[in-house]
Amino acid sequence: MTSMETHTITGGCYCGEVRFSASPDVRVRANCHCANCRRAVGAQAVAWIVIKRSQFQFTKGTPHRYQTETGAWRTFCPHCGTSLTYEHNKRADEIDITTGSLDHPEDFPPTKDVYPEERLRWVELIRD
Ligand SMILES: [Zn+2]
Ligand SMILES: [Zn+2]
Repeated sequence: MTSMETHTITGGCYCGEVRFSASPDVRVRANCHCANCRRAVGAQAVAWIVIKRSQFQFTKGTPHRYQTETGAWRTFCPHCGTSLTYEHNKRADEIDITTGSLDHPEDFPPTKDVYPEERLRWVELIRD
């Protein structure tokens, strides 16, 4: 095991009002190009890690939570706006965390693109 797999994952928003921790059992590391993520986060693509929902908890502050027209629940810091999590009932036992909100995002490079067909043409896909 590498250190990335053995340590609790921590992260939070830009201003520090909202913090979270999660188990290190990351199921998926993906870079999402869907239009819903793009509009919700305000970025050309959004990298996520996926973990078991029961292994995630907010440890400080309370994020704002809203439901998108696609039925997903997204959270963000009510003070600074950082996008934090994504949940959908189609994957009821999972939660996605924005890789950019992690304390060590460099340890969690995405390994695949999702919704590449929705990407902006100037955004490159992951190649191996
Ligand atoms: Zn904040
Ligand atoms: Zn997306």
